[in-house]
Amino acid sequence: MKITDIKIEKVRINLTEPFRVAFAEISYSENILIKVSTDMGIDGYGEAAPIAFVTGETSDSVVSVLNMLKPGLIGMDPLDIEAIHSLMDGCILGNGSAKCAVDLAMYDIKGKLMGQPVYKVLGGYSNSVQNDITIGINAPEKMAAEAKRHVEEDGFHILKIKAGINVKEDVRAMKLIREAVGPDIRLRVDANQGYDVADAVYALTEFRQYGIEAVEQCLPHWDFDGSAYIRSKVNGIKVMLDESIHNHIDAARACKYGCADILNIKLMKCGGLFRASQINSIAEAYGVTCMVGCMMETKLATTAGVSLVASKKNITEADCDSFLFYEDEQTGMNGGFTRVNDRFTLLDQPGFGLDISF
Ligand SMILES: [Mg+2]
Repeated sequence: MKITDIKIEKVRINLTEPFRVAFAEISYSENILIKVSTDMGIDGYGEAAPIAFVTGETSDSVVSVLNMLKPGLIGMDPLDIEAIHSLMDGCILGNGSAKCAVDLAMYDIKGKLMGQPVYKVLGGYSNSVQNDITIGINAPEKMAAEAKRHVEEDGFHILKIKAGINVKEDVRAMKLIREAVGPDIRLRVDANQGYDVADAVYALTEFRQYGIEAVEQCLPHWDFDGSAYIRSKVNGIKVMLDESIHNHIDAARACKYGCADILNIKLMKCGGLFRASQINSIAEAYGVTCMVGCMMETKLATTAGVSLVASKKNITEADCDSFLFYEDEQTGMNGGFTRVNDRFTLLDQPGFGLDISF
């Protein structure tokens, strides 16, 4: 089989309201969809959801990288996924979301050729996941009210709470949220690089009394030593890394030096499902578990993320919730997976099983 053409299209996703995290306020995302055609008449679809302050990419840079890669990719066999990553990495460093678009299209084609859903192509551990829902930074009273609503009205059992602007307010937010949702709801926190070492040790120590199970990316992305240090200082609460982990090399370093208990894999950081699977294998060998997170992605990349979680035993957590905050939850694409409250179940359709055409 050979790749014959790659079509590139920009799409815009609007949020129902702006979302605040430690380093930014976000109200929309401009993403890139690609359609990869083959000489066997099977088309594969992929997506890039660039986020400049995490992956160093914009929608324009993704388009120019894809146009640069296109002549090399045309004529390649879409099943030669390792060779395709080797070509892409040989052409340009980083640019995880541009590479992810190509990678997802290859897995979509592979699944369609096999007549199997991507979660089975990847490993087939399970076909459904329990997902968390994220609460953005706001006045602690408002955050607690939102937490209560997600639990009581929307049926969520795991909450991810954004933090990292003001550590004292963060501690107060955790107290109010725990009081609002009761003892049985699982809570984790994402500081998005907002703390220094002293803040992080203080926050983790205080959060423990409210049953926070893990805190994600306390320190700047480059501070592996600091992460190992805070992990050695505080017991009974897990340290997770997100912005620090862009690829399998970062994962190996974080695991070897004891920087994390959990790694947050994102397809847009690492370049898609092939590298994500490598990150998970490295983590698993070190006794470190994984979560799959997301950027502001359409149903396409979200389905890929959910498929990855479902397919692997060592990926125990799913944070693929950004679509719940869109004006259009389906982003114009039917299929992929169904949702009942916090339980997402993948469809047994070939590839990603999505209804897309352009
Ligand atoms: Mg994060």
